[in-house]
Amino acid sequence: MEKRVQSCLDEQYLIKLTQDLIRVRTPNPPADYSEISPRMKSLMEGLGLNVKVMEGFEGKPNVVGLWAGTDPEGPTLLVDGHMDVVPAGDGWDVDPWAAEIRDGAIWGRGSADMKHALAITASVIRALKQAGFTPRGNLLFSATVDDETAGLFGSKYVIEEGLKLAGWPRPAFHLLLEPTNWDVDVAFKGRVWIKITVKGKSAHGGSPEKGVSAIVKMMELTRRLFAMERHTHPLMPADTLNIGTIEGGEKTNIVPESCTATFDYRFVSPCSSDQAIQRFQDVISDMERTDPDFHVSEFSWFEKRDPTETDLKAPALNLLCDCIKDYSDRPGRLAGSLSAGNTYWSMRQGGRIAMSGPGDPSIIHTNKECIPIKDLVEGARIVAAFVVRFLG
Ligand SMILES: [Zn+2]
Repeated sequence: MEKRVQSCLDEQYLIKLTQDLIRVRTPNPPADYSEISPRMKSLMEGLGLNVKVMEGFEGKPNVVGLWAGTDPEGPTLLVDGHMDVVPAGDGWDVDPWAAEIRDGAIWGRGSADMKHALAITASVIRALKQAGFTPRGNLLFSATVDDETAGLFGSKYVIEEGLKLAGWPRPAFHLLLEPTNWDVDVAFKGRVWIKITVKGKSAHGGSPEKGVSAIVKMMELTRRLFAMERHTHPLMPADTLNIGTIEGGEKTNIVPESCTATFDYRFVSPCSSDQAIQRFQDVISDMERTDPDFHVSEFSWFEKRDPTETDLKAPALNLLCDCIKDYSDRPGRLAGSLSAGNTYWSMRQGGRIAMSGPGDPSIIHTNKECIPIKDLVEGARIVAAFVVRFLG
């Protein structure tokens, strides 16, 4: 069956559909789905799927198609991609919305992130149908909104509300076809954004010994924060810390009374975001114990996300890695990444996931975004093999 499905894959259909979807402009902002959403709906209906528009908020129409399997107890596979893209920006050598073919690649915004993935999934379903494949489990195909702005009515809504309202099965495995050059991303860093204000005591700039410089104290605090242990993880780079903003003092000849800085801390598991915040508080307490002139007047966080990791023993991960090795020269290896994207919501519900797909992650969101046709076709072959092996 796998061979028959592969022989039914139509490269020209795939290329043309990728171009057509790029040409339907969906920059976010402004996130206008009025053209792409009906387009995806009729595409999925044309493939013979049961289609629902899952709209948790006006103007946020996720489109989801279901191909029900023969075994009601069979596993459900979700193949997922987002319909929005980042704005085109400047400096392109080509028209970013024309989906021109040059040097063996399709160029334009969304060519690799990720209209190509929607086209691949549609092409695979078309080939599966033509080959007479009957899935044992269920296949869900989702085209979601608002990935690029991490909105609450995209994938989050589909996974937490939409599927339930439709009475559709919850996915046993969520394959998000984001461009990773087919690395299989399964572990994602956590992050906390923290704001700290240090209070000093003002004095004449000519006699700093009479005051307490909040800036000097902040310098010592940041030195200690940067000296925190950087924890490591087998699948992703070690913890990182960035000072995003720093502000303090009023005038050159006054000892500064106040200094405020914001920090972006990215950390690997096992560590919850609460524990990550505690690491900051420990450094502060330590400094307060040893320096009576050191005072923190404000400590707050304004963003926190726990690290997430899927079950690394999930058999689907081996299946996927095998398909990647069988149909490309990529290593088919497990990896980690900064952000889980749509799969975050599945993992929160205990679902198993992989974020993996064709396309070079280093050129997305740039004016060099393209997808080599070879990678596009290879991508369809890998997804087709995976669906047959997972649901067959
Ligand atoms: Zn993306």
